[in-house]
This record gives sequence, C-alpha cells and structure tokens, in this order.
Amino acid sequence: MASERVDVCIVGSGFGGAITAYRLAELYRAAGADASSILVLERGKRFKHTEFKQSMDIDHLSDVYLLIQGQGAQVVTANAVGGGSNLYLAASLRSPSETFERRDRRTGDGPERRMWPAAISRRSLNPYYARAEAGLRVRRPTWRQVSNSGALWAAHLRSAGHTCDRVPLAINEQRCVDAKWCHTGCIFGAKNSLITNYLPSAERLGVTASATASCPSHRRRGSGPCIRPRSCYRSAGAWGSPHRCRALRTTRRSDTDATDSA
Ligand SMILES: Cc1cc2nc3c(=O)[nH]c(=O)nc-3n(C[C@H](O)[C@H](O)[C@H](O)COP(=O)(O)OP(=O)(O)OC[C@H]3O[C@@H](n4cnc5c(N)ncnc54)[C@H](O)[C@@H]3O)c2cc1C
Repeated sequence: MASERVDVCIVGSGFGGAITAYRLAELYRAAGADASSILVLERGKRFKHTEFKQSMDIDHLSDVYLLIQGQGAQVVTANAVGGGSNLYLAASLRSPSETFERRDRRTGDGPERRMWPAAISRRSLNPYYARAEAGLRVRRPTWRQVSNSGALWAAHLRSAGHTCDRVPLAINEQRCVDAKWCHTGCIFGAKNSLITNYLPSAERLGVTASATASCPSHRRRGSGPCIRPRSCYRSAGAWGSPHRCRALRTTRRSDTDATDSA
C-alpha cells in the first residue's frame, strides 16, 4: 500500500485538536519549518454555519452528533470539523483552584496524593486560559445582554439570598439573536466556534484538516495513501481518545495500523 509521510497527525478537530494544530503550526512557522506536514484527521463532516439547523431533525442530529449505545448507558459525542465547539453553549469558565487541589484518598491506592501533577494548578494555567479566551474571543456579557430567562433566574437566585453573575461566553453578541439552538449549531454564525478561529488560522499556516477521515482508517480520503506520521496526537474527545488507545493496542498486535505505527 502506498504511504504518505507526515510529521504530525492530530486525531480529532475539537478544542484539543484544533488548538494543538494551530499552536504547533505557529511553532513550525517560527522555526522556518513547513506546517503543511501537520495533518488533522476528523471523522465528521465540515459544516458551514448556514448548514446547521434549528431543529431536532434526526438526520441533522445524526450528522453533528454520534450516539454510542452502551448496555444501560448512552453517550452522545460531537462529530464534525470543530468537534464540540459547534454544539456547546459557549460558557467559558476557568476551573476553580479546588479542582486542581483534589487529593486521591482511595483505600488500597497507595499513599494519599494530589491528583494533578505539581506543576498544574489554577495559577500556572491562568496564562493559558487567557490565551484560549483571547483566541475564542470570550466576553462576559453585560446585564443588558443577558437573556430574559437568564435575568429571571438571576432575580430568583437573588431573592433566595444567593449571589449570581454572568458567565463569560465565546459568543459574538452582535450576531446572537438568543434563539437558544446553540446545541444544534448556530445558523447565525454567532458562536465563536473553532471553525471561525483556530482551525482557519491553522489552515492559513499550512495545516491540512481532512473531514470524514476517521482514524484508524488507514487512508486520508477514500482510496488515498496510507498515512505514516512521525508523531500522533489523540484529541478525539473524552470518549474517543481512550477508545482510540484501546483500538491502537489491538491494531499494534495485528500490526496493521499505519497511522499509529510510527
Ligand atoms: C450540548 C453540549 C453543550 C456543551 N456546553 C459547554 C459549555 O457551555 N461550556 C464548556 O466549557 N463545555 C461545554 N460542553 C463540553 C465541551 O463541548 C467539551 O468539553 C469539548 O468539546 C471537549 O473538547 P475535545 O477536543 O476534548 O473533544 P471534542 O470537541 O468532542 O472533539 C473530538 C473530535 O474528535 C473527533 N473524533 C473522535 N474519534 C475520532 C476518530 N477515530 N478519528 C477522527 N476523528 C475522531 C470527533 O468527531 C470530534 O470532532 C458542551 C458539550 C455539549 C455536547
């Protein structure tokens, strides 16, 4: 089988994949290297925002989401170029410090320890949060921009003696009409999803993002050549990446998966 060598293959084009692709391409550019050797493989289709639908139409949902039916559980995952950024609600919060300070106290699991590596804390991540917020054009809305339902919720909380504040959003307020169909893709292009920022920026630097190209399918498009990367990043989401690693173990055994064999 003919093979195509690339430097880097990134599996998945959601937040993990698209941002990695862009930052890596920047580093290539700074080093005078050719970023066209970075390839993003995305199993889903590429949508323009005008192709999304404000509807629970099952065909559309089946296009943008992938439903995994387990035994007694169903998992819904994103399935398009840009991953979950097409479907999420764009609430852009920084994890609180407590998240990173959690300790593992399970009996029989060795000495009690901090679950995150020492170098990772809210403080050490703050500069990276700030970079991602700039890239995704995150803004905290004014109270005037908060929807009626949001304002009603805030008033209820306040009357019950609680505090509440506006959540920073990766949304262009000028385009948002408060239609409340964020979860099927924004037809107004108001969501600052990855198809409006990191992915086109990465592509401008030379990265190729291949839609409907599922790893571990061995080919980039249809009957194209088998891809042989020097390194591979698995950014296939919380569900897809472990699944991908498990598949890799199996394919390593049978030694057929060229994408991951490098
Ligand atoms: C309805 C909804 C609302 C949400 N709202 C918010 C919110 O307001 N704020 C917030 O912070 N988070 C929100 N989230 C969660 C957020 O979207 C996810 O945490 C985020 O998308 C995870 O990014 P990721 O890169 O890890 O994975 P994803 O964005 O899921 O990207 C993974 C990509 O990998 C692709 N892929 C998987 N397997 C393969 C394969 N084998 N080969 C090729 N490609 C593959 C998938 O198609 C997908 O495009 C929401 C999620 C949903 C579903």
